[in-house]
Amino acid sequence: MKKTELVFIPAMGITHLVPMMEFAKLLLDRDDHFFITVLLIKPLFFSSDFNSYTDSLADSLPCLQFIHVPEPSSSNLQTQGSLLSVRAETQKPLVKQTITNLFFSDSDFESAPDRTPLAGLVIDLFCTTLIDIANEVGVPSYIFFTSSAGFLGLLLHLPELDNQIDSDFKDSVTELSIPSFTNPVSPFLLPSLMWSKKEEGYGWSVYHGRRFMEAKGIILNSFVELEPTAINSFTGGRIRTPPVYPVGPLIDQHGQVHNQNPLEESIKRWLDDQPPSSVVFLCFGSSGSFDAAHVKEIALGLERSGHPFLWSLRQQPGDVLPVGFSDRTEERGLVCGWIPQTAVLAHRAIGGFVSHCGWNSILESLWFGVPIAAWPLYAEQRLNAFEMVRELGGLVVELRLDYGGGGDDLVTAEEVQRGVSRLMDSDCVVRMRVKEIMEKSRRALMDDGSSFSSLGCLIKDLMDEGLSGPYNIAD
Ligand code: UDP
Repeated sequence: MKKTELVFIPAMGITHLVPMMEFAKLLLDRDDHFFITVLLIKPLFFSSDFNSYTDSLADSLPCLQFIHVPEPSSSNLQTQGSLLSVRAETQKPLVKQTITNLFFSDSDFESAPDRTPLAGLVIDLFCTTLIDIANEVGVPSYIFFTSSAGFLGLLLHLPELDNQIDSDFKDSVTELSIPSFTNPVSPFLLPSLMWSKKEEGYGWSVYHGRRFMEAKGIILNSFVELEPTAINSFTGGRIRTPPVYPVGPLIDQHGQVHNQNPLEESIKRWLDDQPPSSVVFLCFGSSGSFDAAHVKEIALGLERSGHPFLWSLRQQPGDVLPVGFSDRTEERGLVCGWIPQTAVLAHRAIGGFVSHCGWNSILESLWFGVPIAAWPLYAEQRLNAFEMVRELGGLVVELRLDYGGGGDDLVTAEEVQRGVSRLMDSDCVVRMRVKEIMEKSRRALMDDGSSFSSLGCLIKDLMDEGLSGPYNIAD
């Protein structure tokens, strides 16, 4: 059987790679016409090694292969900033070369006659500069959007806001009207790299918003039942966009990415010994860390709350925890480092999650029916938390929504204690709402569920593209 070939280009961080791979699994599981090549661009600033994860995916899925894009010369590397967008830009010639070698050399198709031409590129939201390659080789591009529909709406609307508003968002008190939100949005809720027009990240955000409009479609890690207003703002014509396909939630339910570092036996045993829904879990994403002053406030707040806790902390506990904290809480708390979050959220002992509201963390906690106390830290997390609280009628407990970072903005022990107590209250309304959304998130992926149907539409569109080749490379 002839295959429809796709190239996936993820941004190389756990929060972007894993949902894209979950999407690849979903697609291959649903339809055996596809063959997917994933191009891996080596990350500059993350030390994570994903080789065992990608090897295990390739071993289990015969129609998935991984190719490492060669590195540019070291002099070129020196000039790069930390932004994923810049990384994609500097790697562009090598990505194009890799695609050309794979799909557009004559010998390739002679040696593999059952291969069909390339049907499209699926590109991470921060790599939209690579749309140029799709245009040059004459195939459509699809954006893979790893965050919420609300944030997608903001980025799509940003080029227009950029034209309308001359001043920096950080100087503006005027609330913004964004089509994917029913409530006005304070500029403060935007990612801090968008606060000033001089920021490199601001320019890239406007750029991505513009380029999304060129895509043949946008694949979204969300589901209609969670974000009906935002998703309808695309399909219902409030924003004119390429087709948006909500196919989520895309979650690594079995923790395949953590195969090398599974949940430690001692932590699992400790959780097994706790009563159901009794433990509060604290974890702040791949990059959330705190200064010593905050670590102290969190520790005191947890101690005073009286609830059992599991706290994933980035620093060495001995260096930052208050004197005597470990002894005093020995019986009812554990402090650990990086931990397989999905395995923890899935455990019956977990009753609440203090989270920075990264989009993956929100989807994961909803999937496992665990309510969140929101303490957004960076990136689009303030906007995510705002959406959960204001737009979706109280889907998280507020711990602190307007945390701006910086040394003088202290979240106190009292705030932590209050947030944790509200979160762990068994009568908490949020707890009931989260259970409802848990059911809906699971139903969305079942046969005839909303995301299942949306994936069906996407597959049809991809297949139509696959059949309309062959494509010629344009210089
Ligand atoms: N994660 C994890 N263990 C940790 C911290 C994070 O497994 O100690 C995983 C978590 O399950 C999620 C991802 O890393 O899938 C974090 O993604 P999210 O979008 O929530 O936050 P970000 O890292 O982008 O801030």
